[in-house]
This record gives sequence, structure tokens and C-alpha cells, in this order.
Amino acid sequence: MKTHQFEVIVVGAGGAGLMAGLYASKTAKTAVISKLYPTRSHTGAAQGGIGAALGNEEEDRTEWHTYDTVKGSDYLGDQDAIEFMCEEAPGIVYELEHMGLPFSRTAEGRIAQRPFGGHTNNETGVPVRRACYAADRTGHMILQTLYQQCVKNNVTFFDEFQVLDMIVVNGKAAGVVTIELATGELHVFHAKAVIFATGGYGRVWEITTNAYANTGDGIAITLRHGIPAEDMEFFQFHPTGIYKMGILITEGVRGEGGVLINDKGERFMAKEEYAPHVKDLASRDVVSRAMYLEMKNGLGIGGKRYLYLDVRPETVNKYAALDGRTNPDGTPYTVTADDILSRLPDIIDFCKTYLGVDPVVDPMPVQPTAHYAMGGIPTNVKGEVVIDKKNTVMPGVYAAGETSCVSVHGSNRLGTNSLLDLVVFGKQAGVNAAEYARGTDFQPLPADPAGPAREQLARLRNSSGAERISTIGTEMKAVMFDHVGVFRTEAGMTEAVEKIRELKERFKHIRLDDRGTVFNMELLNAWELGNLLDIAEVTAVSALTRRESRGAHARDDYPERNDKKWMKHTLAWLQEDGVKLDYKPVTFTKYEPKVRVY
Ligand SMILES: Cc1cc2nc3c(=O)[nH]c(=O)nc-3n(C[C@H](O)[C@H](O)[C@H](O)COP(=O)(O)OP(=O)(O)OC[C@H]3O[C@@H](n4cnc5c(N)ncnc54)[C@H](O)[C@@H]3O)c2cc1C
Repeated sequence: MKTHQFEVIVVGAGGAGLMAGLYASKTAKTAVISKLYPTRSHTGAAQGGIGAALGNEEEDRTEWHTYDTVKGSDYLGDQDAIEFMCEEAPGIVYELEHMGLPFSRTAEGRIAQRPFGGHTNNETGVPVRRACYAADRTGHMILQTLYQQCVKNNVTFFDEFQVLDMIVVNGKAAGVVTIELATGELHVFHAKAVIFATGGYGRVWEITTNAYANTGDGIAITLRHGIPAEDMEFFQFHPTGIYKMGILITEGVRGEGGVLINDKGERFMAKEEYAPHVKDLASRDVVSRAMYLEMKNGLGIGGKRYLYLDVRPETVNKYAALDGRTNPDGTPYTVTADDILSRLPDIIDFCKTYLGVDPVVDPMPVQPTAHYAMGGIPTNVKGEVVIDKKNTVMPGVYAAGETSCVSVHGSNRLGTNSLLDLVVFGKQAGVNAAEYARGTDFQPLPADPAGPAREQLARLRNSSGAERISTIGTEMKAVMFDHVGVFRTEAGMTEAVEKIRELKERFKHIRLDDRGTVFNMELLNAWELGNLLDIAEVTAVSALTRRESRGAHARDDYPERNDKKWMKHTLAWLQEDGVKLDYKPVTFTKYEPKVRVY
């Protein structure tokens, strides 16, 4: 077993981890550890854009961005954190630009911006162009740019090292335990501060936009150390995933004028009961639910579980004219096939590759797909992990990005606000962890710091039951998609909780085939499935207990938002005998809760 020593350890090399690593390394000896090669992180899949009220295309203000985010969160977001993020946004986007990020440009050479769901001009209620983008590969460009900066600044990387455990001494972070994928060897990283930036956990569900690696490892590890997970019941379903595959079709398609169409050829989002005002650009929870209802009412295409997303130029131009949509100079908005090709090249490519459909000629079959975790490891605006309802800080432990819950997204995230969250709070976590490290000593390592991780792996490796991890995984994903998905009921979620507990029992009796040490992915997939099962249980119990509908959490049996009882964050602890829940208040500054109107 090898031991390394760094002042700050960052776990994860997506947008959040790289930003944290870049900033921490300016003043502290820092290493970034990632189970994937950094540029393979899920951030690279982000398409649509990063939100910032630059006002390059039309008037915009950070206060409007703040209010849209508060409203989009269905008032569960902490308003101090949201204000901070939206005020930081323009500066941090320019910082990325100065690092060399190749943003798409306006005719005058400024950073181009496009409309995105839920982002509006607060005075007119009309969608505003706030999403800064690099064609439809914004996340890819962020990841590449930050990785280059990290390399330039000599950040130390441990690629294809998987973190299995955190070392805690005297209630403080003291490092992490990892396995080197290529050799199976355990390495201990002794550290003063640990930043978790391990991304989301969409792999809990059957249909998801998320990469295979998105298994919520950071949340599972911290849960095992008695740290709660916050607001786990809020998981966003993106309305437009490729039918059956879940691969994301960016909201940017609707930003460019694409519309959703049902079996009768209707643009159903314009219906009175859905979003007659902003229509296809309503926020994701609203669109996903409308799609679910259309399909439930037999209006899926051919009665099946999908609808059409139509971005053919003739359709876009027809509805743009009906909506009276104009260009910034006041002329009517129209597009050509070439415009679509140049603005959405990757989407066109995905559809041709995976569906054999050319979106310029045919509409795309889409269905809601599990997309984004609003909940996660609780933190404050400094990126410090907080462990109870009084927001007590756990010294030396930090989190940023999708694995964390600050909470800026509350019960529902607006598109483009995650990439923003990564860079704003990744930076905060990096700066503050380095500062903390400067003022503190290393904790002494325990006698066998890798002991618990070694035992955990041995249990999985030596288990001699008959259960297969693929079967347990498939059953978990199906029950979570059916019962803890877009629409939820008491009976369905109760069934899901029972099923997850049954699967956790069966998981104790698995059998693995690979006994080797070199790239034993079966062993690591088993470890990850254990994480997903823990997270599924916490998610389902948190959702079952919240008897209201808010943001992404929509219940058939409690269709109304209940501010009197439920305007509070859920904190969930995973214990031997199940999940323990408690609640903490939402931080308000100046925005009073209102009923959302679309
Ligand atoms: C298809 C898709 C499109 C999206 N489009 C947009 C968009 O246009 N705009 C927007 O704002 N948001 C978008 N999002 C959301 C956003 O991209 C993600 O929330 C965000 O990229 C997550 O970044 P992250 O840094 O937190 O984690 P990730 O980028 O997922 O990185 C996680 C890192 O953690 C590492 N890791 C995980 N577990 C371990 C472990 N046990 N040991 C070591 N390393 C580990 C991984 O190797 C990886 O490097 C999109 C998401 C998806 C899935």
C-alpha cells in the first residue's frame, strides 16, 4: 500500500473538481483524483450553455437571473446562495473567456447568448437570451479549457484512481483511500482538506442522460460517515431524451425555436393547462409533467411513450411567426436548415447516429429522462460541508458541483445553472479549502487507514451467493423509474422503498466472476451498485415523506405545494436500520413565495 501526502485532495475532475483544483493549487499542495481520465467526466456532455446576465444580445440583469432561479427552485433554493451565484456569473464567464474558452460569438464579436427554459426578462415575462454557449458543446469546452489551465499550473493528477473512503480523525478530514484501477493496489492520500466533486447519480434510474460513471460515490461515502444528504427527493427529469436511450437533446433545440408535438400534431405546451405564456420554454419539471400527461391521455405518438421534438425549419418558422418572435433588431425570427446545422451540430449527429433520423428533415422521438440531482452533500456558500440543521461545519470537508447541495437549485434547476454552479462553487471550495489547509496541521493517520475500504472490497469479492449485480441493478432502475420518477404516489413509493430494501438484502449475496486485480471493473461496478442502492433508498424515503408537490417532486396524491408545512430542506441520514430524516429552514432574503404562473 502506498501513502501520499497533499494539503488538499479534490475527488473528481469534472467542471467542479477542475475549478476547485485550479484554485486550491494556487496556494496549497493539491492533487485531483479521478476514476475517469479528466476530460471523460460528464461535464463534457453538457450541451446548451452556462447562464450569466451579460446582456450581450438584449437587456438583462443579475437580479432577473436571481429571481428566475428562486422562482425556478419553487422557492426552496437558499436565496443568499442564489444571489451570490448570479452576481458572480458575469465575472466568472469572462474569466473562462480569458482562459481561452472558445464561446460562440455575436456579429460584433461578443459572447453569443441564447434563450433557455425559465430564464426571462422579468418586466415583460418574455424569454431572455442569457445562456452563453460554445455551439452545442459548452461543457466540453469548459472541461477542456479548465484541464489545460490545471496542466499549465502543474496541478497533480491521479487519473483512474477510484476513491473508496474518506479518512476522518477527531471529526476532521484526514484524507481518502483509493484503488488504482490498473493494478488493484490501495493508495492512501493523507490530506488536510478533502473536496468532493464526484458529480451526479442518474444511474439510479432506467432512462437517464447520465454517463455510466454517475453513481453518486461522494454522497454514498459521506453518508457512511454520518454526514446527511440534503433534498434527495428532488431529481430533475429532462423532457427531451432520445426515446428508449435517454440521451439528452438539449433545451437549446427549443431555444432555437423547436417545438414539442403530440400525436394529433398539436403544439401541446401552448395549452391553457400547461404553459400558455412561455410554452415550450417553460422550466423542465413543467414540460416533463405535461409530456407525461399527454402520453397518459393517449396522445403519445402512435399511443406510445414518446412525443415529437420538431426543429425542422418550416415548423420553427411557422411557430415563430405565430408567437411574433423577433430577432434583436426587431425583424421576424426565421431559420434555415444551415442555421440549424451550424447551431446544433452535435444534436444532428446524435440523432443520425443513434436513431437514423435527420432532425432537419424529420421530427425527433423524445421522452422524459432522469437528468440532474438537485440534492446532495449539504454545503454553505463557501463550499464547506455542513452536517446538521444548524449548519455546523465539518472541518476540512468540502463539496462542489452536482454532488453538493448549496442549495441554489432548490426543488428544480434551471437549464444552464449547473455549469454556473460548478465554476462558482468549485472556485469557492478550492479557495476556502486551501485557506483552511494553511491554518491547520495534518491530523495523525489511524493505524490502518485503508482497513474499512479493504474489508468492503473483500466482502464483495469473496461473497459466494448466487445473485448477479446486473439483475439487482436492472430491478432497482426499473422500480425507481416507475415509482420515484416524473409522477409519484404513496403506494408507488412505498413499493419502491420495500423493493430497494429487498435488493439491499440480495446484494449481500452476490457472486462476482472476476477474481483479478488489473482493471477489475466488475468489482468496482459492484461497489458502485452498493452506492446506488444506498442513494436510491435515501431518495425514495425522502420523497415518500414529503407530502406535497414542489418543483421536480410531483405527487398525484398531493398535487399542491404546501408552504406552511413543507417550505424546508430535507436532511437524510443513512443508518443501520434505515433512513433518519430531519429538516432545516430555507434561507430567504427578499423574495416571498408566490404561486408559479407560466
Ligand atoms: C447530457 C448532459 C447535458 C447537460 N447539459 C447542461 C447544460 O447545458 N448546462 C448546464 O448548466 N448543465 C448541464 N448539465 C448538467 C451538468 O453538466 C452537470 O451537472 C455537471 O457537469 C456536473 O459536473 P461535476 O463537476 O459536478 O461532475 P462530473 O462532470 O460528473 O465529474 C465527476 C467527476 O468525479 C469523478 N469521480 C466520481 N466518483 C469518483 C470516485 N469514487 N473516485 C474518484 N473520482 C470519482 C469522475 O471521474 C469525474 O471526474 C448536463 C448534464 C448532462 C448529463
